[in-house]
Amino acid sequence: MKADPFAQLKLLDVQELDSRLDLLRHQLATLPQTAELQALARSRTEVGDRARDAKIAVDDLTRAQKKADADVEQVKARRKRDQERIDQGLITNPKDLERMQHEMVSLDRRVGELEDTELEVMEQLEDAQRELDALTARLAEIDDKIQATTDSRTKVAGEVEEQLTKVADDRKVTASDMPTDLMALYEKLRGQKGGVGAAALRARRCGGCSLELNAADLGVIAKAPSDEVIRCEECSRILVRTSESGI
Ligand SMILES: [Zn+2]
Repeated sequence: MKADPFAQLKLLDVQELDSRLDLLRHQLATLPQTAELQALARSRTEVGDRARDAKIAVDDLTRAQKKADADVEQVKARRKRDQERIDQGLITNPKDLERMQHEMVSLDRRVGELEDTELEVMEQLEDAQRELDALTARLAEIDDKIQATTDSRTKVAGEVEEQLTKVADDRKVTASDMPTDLMALYEKLRGQKGGVGAAALRARRCGGCSLELNAADLGVIAKAPSDEVIRCEECSRILVRTSESGI
């Protein structure tokens, strides 16, 4: 292939701009904030699940506490009613009176048991509420971090995108009057060779694969017309001769 030596030199500029674009795109795809946000999302799910369970426990225990309160009140009311009947002298039959007094002893015991249960439920409810409060606070903390990290990512991504646009514009201008066949070869090689399709021959080395060319190859290159497109024997990239090529 033949190409104007100036176009060949310019291809190195295009390559440099393409490499910068690749780097910026990679930077954009691997922003540390993206990984941070993924980790935060995982934490949020985990803490959110625990908070949901804690809320269920609080709701269950709140219901249980209300029931325990009601149970205590119910037995207390019955005991009060019995006491009033006795106090008002409504129970005249000694047998009935004795039975009622027995019942009141048993009601007292029942109140004691129910109050123990009530206390136990209250303690469990306090523990569950504390757990829920802690998890809710943790969720708020995670949400703050997610917000801050999202803001930071937006800012950094914006800066990188701005650079991308600028470099892409430069690239467009630089590549605008390049020979089509040279560009096609370059693009093909770039796709095959990790983003580097053209390299300078500098100090007898290929800038693409770093191989030092032997004297025979250098001799051939030195004799080749300046518009001949040279390819590296080792990596087959386009090898551009410059003033620093050492030939
Ligand atoms: Zn090479």
